[in-house]
Amino acid sequence: MPSPATANRRADRAALALSMLCAIGCTPEPSASTESPPPSVAAPAPAAPPLPIADAPPIDGVARTAPDAIDDGLHVVLLGTGTPVPSPRRSGPALAVIAAGRPYLVDFGPGVVRRAVEAQERGVVALDPTRLDFALATHLHSDHTAGLSDLLLTPAVVGRGRPLRLRGPTGLVAMADHIVAAYRTDLAVRRGERSEAQMAGYRVEARDIEAGLVHADGPLRIRAFDVPHGSFDAAFGYRFDDGRRRIVVSGDTGPSDAVVEACDGCDVLVHEVYCKAGFDRGGADFRKYHGSFHTSAPQLAALAVRARPKLLVLSHLLLFGCSERQLLDEVVAGYRGRVALGRDLDVF
Ligand SMILES: [Zn+2]
Ligand SMILES: [Zn+2]
Repeated sequence: MPSPATANRRADRAALALSMLCAIGCTPEPSASTESPPPSVAAPAPAAPPLPIADAPPIDGVARTAPDAIDDGLHVVLLGTGTPVPSPRRSGPALAVIAAGRPYLVDFGPGVVRRAVEAQERGVVALDPTRLDFALATHLHSDHTAGLSDLLLTPAVVGRGRPLRLRGPTGLVAMADHIVAAYRTDLAVRRGERSEAQMAGYRVEARDIEAGLVHADGPLRIRAFDVPHGSFDAAFGYRFDDGRRRIVVSGDTGPSDAVVEACDGCDVLVHEVYCKAGFDRGGADFRKYHGSFHTSAPQLAALAVRARPKLLVLSHLLLFGCSERQLLDEVVAGYRGRVALGRDLDVF
């Protein structure tokens, strides 16, 4: 059993976590914690997985791809499987699809560059920070974009020689422009020390996009598709197809036929999910908010039956006080296909 001090710290963290998740139109409900139940609840808090979690045996029985087995085909590297709740085990939402050795980032939550370097140090050579020059945003929630200044500047500091190409929903160009303006003092000092060619890596070429074909490079096609994410005007999922493999990333979304159509037997579907048992413990406002912005484990199971991915990867794990095992069990109760509970640095 945790000591009273530990239990109090966990309760404080749970209240903080919930207040952050409920930042938009949602009254926090102390009994529906995202991390651990408050002391008044009899069930013990789920034990935190060890650090780094990618070194622990996966609880889902699905084999991960070894970094040295990454070939010219499509692969996905999870860089952040977390949520707005800050966690050292699960970084802010971000992943990289590696295509023919080139990295394409999807989202750039806090910690994205350091997780990329961690993956590089474990053998994912494509995630050398100087090669991070293309990134797609699913939507503009802060947990998915708070790493943008880092992605814009840090790889350039260590030698990226090309501009950062950014694609995402309307508002992304303005966000990038404002970050560049915010760092004008830093950029002016660096400009004074470097040649124009050396400053190329500090430039950003951002474009607000609509659903459709976003990028083509050789056989690779990247398509954006619209997904419903509460009151957002625009939120995207992305589909990567190189003619041999297809990887689909849901982004943050309620259950959506668009994901089913984009996957349609795809090799890997990375999908967000929340624990229904934890959700059910929340108050009316809490359930109204998360019910319109996100997908429950039973809803995801039903969706996966129709989408038929060869591998379903759970990410952006909204536990609401459940254990990771509970969340996984809720999915496999309704879906017999292969399901991996995603962890930072997993490769598929
Ligand atoms: Zn999110
Ligand atoms: Zn979101």
